[in-house]
Amino acid sequence: PVILSIESSCDDTSAAVLKGAQVLSNIVATQQIHQAYGGVVPELASRAHQQHIVPLVHQALATANIDKKSLSAIAFTRGPGLLGSLLVGTSFAKSLALSLDIPLIEVNHMEAHILAHFIEREGYTPPPFPFLAATISGGHTQIVRVDGPFQMEVLGETLDDAIGEAFDKSAKLIGFPYPGGPLIDKHAQAGDPLRFEFPIPKVDGLNFSFSGLKTSILYFIQKQQEKDAGFVERERDHICASIQHTIVKILMQKLEKAVAETGLKHIAIGGGVAANSGIRGALKEAEEKQGWTTYVPPMEYCTDNAAMIGIVGYFKYLENRFCGLDVSAKARYSIGK
Ligand code: ATP
Ligand code: FE
Repeated sequence: PVILSIESSCDDTSAAVLKGAQVLSNIVATQQIHQAYGGVVPELASRAHQQHIVPLVHQALATANIDKKSLSAIAFTRGPGLLGSLLVGTSFAKSLALSLDIPLIEVNHMEAHILAHFIEREGYTPPPFPFLAATISGGHTQIVRVDGPFQMEVLGETLDDAIGEAFDKSAKLIGFPYPGGPLIDKHAQAGDPLRFEFPIPKVDGLNFSFSGLKTSILYFIQKQQEKDAGFVERERDHICASIQHTIVKILMQKLEKAVAETGLKHIAIGGGVAANSGIRGALKEAEEKQGWTTYVPPMEYCTDNAAMIGIVGYFKYLENRFCGLDVSAKARYSIGK
C-alpha cells in the first residue's frame, strides 16, 4: 500500500508518504516561533500547523512522486499531544480521506515512536519481538515491553518531568536558551562528569522522577553563586558534564532494572533525547559489558516525524485496522489502549 501520513501533535508539522515499510518522503516543518517564548505556546502551535499542513502534504506527495489518487489510505496522529495541534492534523486527515474515499487510520504517537524502528533501511535489522523500548523525549519518558506491533505494555514512566525537560530546565538554570538539552550535551564533552554530585531520586519500580534533580541543581547553583559570582561561568562545562552524568545514570539504572525483571536484552531507544552522546555512550558500554543489543534509529526518525506515523499506518493497514470519520483527537492517549 501507499500511505500518506500526518503528524501534528506538538510543535512540528510533518507529512510523509510510505510505500509498504519504505519511506518515499518525510517532510518536517519545525516551528521556530516558540524559541522566543522559552517553550511551546499551544495557541501559536496550532496556528502554525494550519499554515504548514497544506503545502507540506503537497510537498510530501511531490517528493514521493505520488499522485493523491493512487493513495491507499491516510494515517494521522490522534494523540497524545496538544489538543489544538492534534485537531489540525485530525481534521485535515479526515477530510482528505473522505474526499478521496480511502480508509482512515488513527495512530498513537507514542506507539509510533516505538514502531519507527521498523521503517525499512538498508543494512539494518529491526529489534525482534519481544523487546524493551525506551521513549525519551521532551514530553515523555517511558519504558515499554513490546510483544508485537499492537501488543505493548508500559512498564514504567515519569511521574513528573520528562527526561528532555530535565535537560532543558537544567540548561535554563545555567543560562542556556531553550531548548538547552543539546547545549548541555555539547558543553559536557569538555567537562568532568564526576566534579559535582547530584542526588539520584529514589522511585519505586520502573517509574522515573526528574523534578527533584532540577531543584537540587537550582539550590546548588544559588549557593555557589552567593560565594563566588563567577562560579557558573567558570565551571560551566563541569556542571553540564555532571548533570548529564546524573540524568544518564537515572535512565540506565531503570533500564538495567527492566532487563533484570523481564529478561529482555534487546533495547530500542526513540525520542529526541536519543541524540544525547552520554546516553549513546552508556548504551554502547551496556552492549559490551552486559550483552545487550541496542537500537537507535537515525535522528530524523527519533524526533517528531510523519514517517513513524506512516509505519504504524502500514502495520494497521495490513490488518484492516481502520477508523471511522467520526474519530476525534485525544490529548491523553495511553499506549496499548
Ligand atoms: P514528544 O515527542 O514527547 O512530544 P518533543 O517533541 O518535545 O516531545 P523531541 O522533539 O522528541 O520531543 O525531543 C526534544 C527534546 O530532546 C528536547 O527536550 C531537547 O532538549 C532534547 N534533546 C535533543 N538533543 C539532545 C541532546 N543531544 N542531549 C540532550 N537532550 C537533547
Ligand atoms: Fe514525539
